[in-house]
Amino acid sequence: MDIFKFGGASVNSVEGVQNFYKIVQSYKNESLIVVSAMGKTTNALEQIVDAFFHKKSDLVQQQFENVKTYHFDIINELFSKKTSTSIDKINALFDDLYTYLQKPASLNYEFEYDQIVAYGELLSTTIISEYLRTKGVKNQWIDIRRYLKTNDTFGEAKVDWELSRQLLPTAFTFQDTFIYITQGFIGGTSSNLSTTLGREGSDYTAAILANVLDAQEVSILKDVPGVMNADPKWLPDAKQLKRISYQEAIELAFFGAKVIHPKTIQPIQEKNIPMFVRSFINFHEQGTMVSAAAIDKNIKTPIFIQKKDQMLISIRPKNYSFVIEENLGPIFSMIAKHRLKVNLTQNSAISFSLCVDNSKNIDKLIKALKADYEVRYNDKLELITIRHYNTDSINQMTEGRNILLEQKSRDTAQYVLECDS
Ligand code: ASP
Ligand code: MG
Repeated sequence: MDIFKFGGASVNSVEGVQNFYKIVQSYKNESLIVVSAMGKTTNALEQIVDAFFHKKSDLVQQQFENVKTYHFDIINELFSKKTSTSIDKINALFDDLYTYLQKPASLNYEFEYDQIVAYGELLSTTIISEYLRTKGVKNQWIDIRRYLKTNDTFGEAKVDWELSRQLLPTAFTFQDTFIYITQGFIGGTSSNLSTTLGREGSDYTAAILANVLDAQEVSILKDVPGVMNADPKWLPDAKQLKRISYQEAIELAFFGAKVIHPKTIQPIQEKNIPMFVRSFINFHEQGTMVSAAAIDKNIKTPIFIQKKDQMLISIRPKNYSFVIEENLGPIFSMIAKHRLKVNLTQNSAISFSLCVDNSKNIDKLIKALKADYEVRYNDKLELITIRHYNTDSINQMTEGRNILLEQKSRDTAQYVLECDS
């Protein structure tokens, strides 16, 4: 059995869904297809959550209508009047969501978030499964929340592997069907409340299912030909990497390459399942193979990763105590408490610098740190990481630019740079 994951961009329009049908219909192996919410639906649902939680009912209403119109513009072209059972199923989901939004919100934002945002994937998979059915492609739709079980850390739920290992194989038996369609990104608690696995979590779902169900391979379908040596929207002459190891993929994801979700690799690596990152437009091209093979030594092409909107914070204990021995623990607990993501650190005897993603909690962290430390900071920075660097690639990135901090290991060079504008 093979697993496919289609991202939101692949099914964001009538043409997208038709392309999906073409790919699925041409495929001859047993397949389990994981799908994200269509286009930017998750962002739109996040706005509904916000309005709902803050009791702005007019805004809720208006944004709900926007989401509905977006989907129905696609549905009306895909389905004819004769297929009213399909339309009924989709309408039932919208009715459920509508009913939910009429009730008062609880006090738990993350809980409300998961109950509402989950509809994005429920809708996309229902539309797609129904479309395949009306085109004569037999498939079975599965509500993954009943089988992929998680704890109740809403917004960033942890998989209950034991329970999921018991339940998932009962859903995907391939007894009466060749094709399953299910949702990425969402799961369910043992009491059947919806949960989510963290933004962009559908790749992770594909990896979890691959691990538990012992898939032969996983394909992640993207709007790029594969894993590139840079985001082509940033560096247009980016080249595709043909093969990389699990380890390289984890490093790339860690440093911020958006093409792979950081949690995806571990479950497939554990079972040694190869993963292909390939284009949903040129589906039959191989894309990039991610596997156990030790091939990274041959990576001659430097790989560039850009993280924007960074802040550099420099901290010095007011009492001149050594940073490492006495202060690192407390500093990191403060960072964790404010849920900030640290991308780079550097220290001297009595000072400590960290490069973090700018976020709304930064001010709170700085305020908390100021009790015991002298704190200085710069914002509007970017962090450039170069894997497998050489002199040319470093010059290409840093020439004529103000470097605030740099760090090099054997494989990786990183620069915190001031932005031009
Ligand atoms: N729809 C979810 C998101 O946009 C999950 C995903 O796309 O992987 O974050
Ligand atoms: Mg998405």
